Amino acid sequence: MSVSPGQIDRREFLVRACAAGACVCLGAHGPPSWAAVPEREARYYRSLPGNRVHCYLCPCNPTMEACGVLSDGQTCFCRVRTNRGGRLYVSNYGRAAAVHTDPVEKSPLYHVLPGAKLLAVAAPGCNLACKCCQNWEMSQAGVEDLHTIDASPEELVRRAVETGCRGLAFTYTEPIVYFEYLVDTAALARKRGLRCFVSTGGYITTEPLIELCRYVDAFSVSVKGFSEKFYLDQCRGSLSTVLDCLKTIHERGVWLEIPVLIIPTLSDDPDEVAWFCSWVIKNLGTEVPVHFVRFSPSFRLKNLPATPVPVLEAALSAALRSGLQHVYIGNVPGHDANNSTCPSCKRLLIQRIGVRVLQQRLDIHESGGAACPGCGRNVPGIWT
Ligand code: SF4
Ligand code: SF4
Repeated sequence: MSVSPGQIDRREFLVRACAAGACVCLGAHGPPSWAAVPEREARYYRSLPGNRVHCYLCPCNPTMEACGVLSDGQTCFCRVRTNRGGRLYVSNYGRAAAVHTDPVEKSPLYHVLPGAKLLAVAAPGCNLACKCCQNWEMSQAGVEDLHTIDASPEELVRRAVETGCRGLAFTYTEPIVYFEYLVDTAALARKRGLRCFVSTGGYITTEPLIELCRYVDAFSVSVKGFSEKFYLDQCRGSLSTVLDCLKTIHERGVWLEIPVLIIPTLSDDPDEVAWFCSWVIKNLGTEVPVHFVRFSPSFRLKNLPATPVPVLEAALSAALRSGLQHVYIGNVPGHDANNSTCPSCKRLLIQRIGVRVLQQRLDIHESGGAACPGCGRNVPGIWT
């Protein structure tokens, strides 16, 4: 999932992280002395003859001939799952590449606990290879390539409580490839009354996703393009898997927001944007928030310009015309479409500059619901 870990660029971020002994947990408590966590056996794999294994956590890379099928000693496309003697092990359990605090808006989640501070956690690896990735130094790396922070689920939850966070955000890289670490941490966090949020590229098979839905309060699933060709060429993935992921999360009743990256010449076709809006309305309804996110040149797409703001505004207008009720523009701080307004009476509900909340005017009910203070329209989300 491509969200930026800060105002500094990624290389600088990692340089600073490494200089700080790989601990990037910002808080008043100083660097923690956390204990190493041993490598764990992976879940969602089956054994095959000849000491081979088949991982079915994700559909793997469609350009590989034997997707997810690994011979003894082989590491898969995500760089963090290895067959050792006929068993699949995950190397990034308890090995975070980043731990620090972020506002929930950074995920981006705009209909969730406005302004809440979260403990943002990332572990190395990703099962996609997006040429547009903002966090490629961490996502396109294994644990051996980075200085990681040894942090057990217990330590992450303790850190979240100590730093006054209302929950944890699993973000920056791809939480699916540290599924076991994520589920163990989220289960523990829930017991301590913390919320759990996942930012993902949505490249996961249905069975593990259904399990994940039991532990996660909200997902931000990024869509980076609108065709199978785009996903194959630009991400080494498939669009249909991501769309299935969106439908499954919606069907399970878990809160969902969709950042849609608009990349000049690659995913800015107005017809494709209109098609996607129709798909959302047909399959997820009109109330799911959609964020049109500005592309910034990075990784393998440094040759392309940043998305012109009028292109984002055209996508926003098309989405509103199609019937979507909560549409935002992301990565353009100060734009009016950073704000939440009532779809019925157009009253300002939440004012933001980028990821910063300036004011919040929703009527929040004891039941946990929220409404526009002007016309009483229900505004869906997680508000308490
Ligand atoms: S899904 Fe794509 S954008 Fe997100 S971390 Fe992975 S490679 Fe980067
Ligand atoms: S999660 Fe990793 S090991 Fe499993 S199929 Fe996907 S890329 Fe391969």
